[in-house]
Amino acid sequence: MKKFIPIVSEGYQTRVPEGLRQPDGVTGALAGQHAGIRLTSLPPLSVYIHVPWCVRKCPYCDFNSHQIPDVLPEDRYLEALQADLEQALPRIWGRQVTTVFIGGGTPSLLSDRGIDRMLAMLRSHLNLWPDAEITLEANPGTAEASRFKSYAASGVNRISLGVQSFNDQALHALGRIHDGDQARAAIEMAQHAVQRVNLDLMFALPNQTLEESIADTRIALAFGTDHLSMYHLTLEPNTVFAKYPPPIPDEDLAATMEDSIESMADAAGLSRYEVSAFARKGSQSRHNLNYWEFGDYLGIGPGAHGKLSFHDRIERDARTRNPEAWMQSALRRDGSHVSENRLLTAQDLPFEFMLNALRLRQGVPSTLYTERCGLSLITMSSAMQKATQQGLLTADPTRLQATAQGWRFLNELQTLFL
Ligand code: SF4
Repeated sequence: MKKFIPIVSEGYQTRVPEGLRQPDGVTGALAGQHAGIRLTSLPPLSVYIHVPWCVRKCPYCDFNSHQIPDVLPEDRYLEALQADLEQALPRIWGRQVTTVFIGGGTPSLLSDRGIDRMLAMLRSHLNLWPDAEITLEANPGTAEASRFKSYAASGVNRISLGVQSFNDQALHALGRIHDGDQARAAIEMAQHAVQRVNLDLMFALPNQTLEESIADTRIALAFGTDHLSMYHLTLEPNTVFAKYPPPIPDEDLAATMEDSIESMADAAGLSRYEVSAFARKGSQSRHNLNYWEFGDYLGIGPGAHGKLSFHDRIERDARTRNPEAWMQSALRRDGSHVSENRLLTAQDLPFEFMLNALRLRQGVPSTLYTERCGLSLITMSSAMQKATQQGLLTADPTRLQATAQGWRFLNELQTLFL
């Protein structure tokens, strides 16, 4: 029987620190304490922007998403976003931004004018790479061809579509606002607007059969997409599904679904490069790769998390989750929109690094640990030895890479580095 790693949506992975479930509240106890680390160079820098509204809340969703108010406060949100960014600028001064991810929530609820204003603001404030990957998350229920083209004209060069399924019954059970036809139409619109389109799909859905999961995968692959994200539906605490659990496939059936998805994607030329991500060569998500390779990211918007490195320390921070409270505090420009700021200690770093790096099928070069954490590999040599002895980590000293067994039991492997 397989042990499953919770697999969640691409947008959520872009919020991996949110997945770490750090408690809210400023953890100032460590402020000013240095962790004894020394970075000789700073990692690549990404920017994550959180748009917190959705047409309605899906029953399985534990993201920081809120039902849209009667009137979307787009202008005020964008003003607050600018205030948030401007207050963060001294922390990233002079650094080049290689990728931007506009996630949510449902960013495609914003008007084309709003996205244009957002990207113009980023360009005028940041040292944005000319070739930066700029991804926008969109939901088929809010897709409009003209909007997608306008987003692309403003600089969006990758669209991540929350398709989840093509099966109307499954979509209904998930509480999604779109149906299978709208999903198909949205994919075509996105593919006409930008060259790079990711499709988010889920499996192990309520009452889903193996045949239905295979049919979803087949339809998605038939669009010739270069990138596919497949998520195992999990019942997260504090969701409607946690309170009223639907009948979902057992672990063995879910494992069979996962295997069939992997072999179908492989046959279509998309290799599984990360726990839930499949891509054609050269089409991997650069933004998500930066998370998994323990790069830096500035997170702005309600509930956004960030990780920033300095030559003598690495910090994580988080914004106030409630959209209205975040807007008010960001616009006050007194720093109160930052609800948490935490210094990572030398004890935190092995687990934090491996939690991300081991998600990659090929792992990472061993030297990346020192580069990103400013610590010698010796600091986790006993955990590495244990993991290797248990057959979970490859014995190759030049790479930090899970074995096939380690990938299958990833939670256990990652926990060894705690
Ligand atoms: S559309 Fe996505 S972010 Fe919004 S409620 Fe549903 S799952 Fe959550």
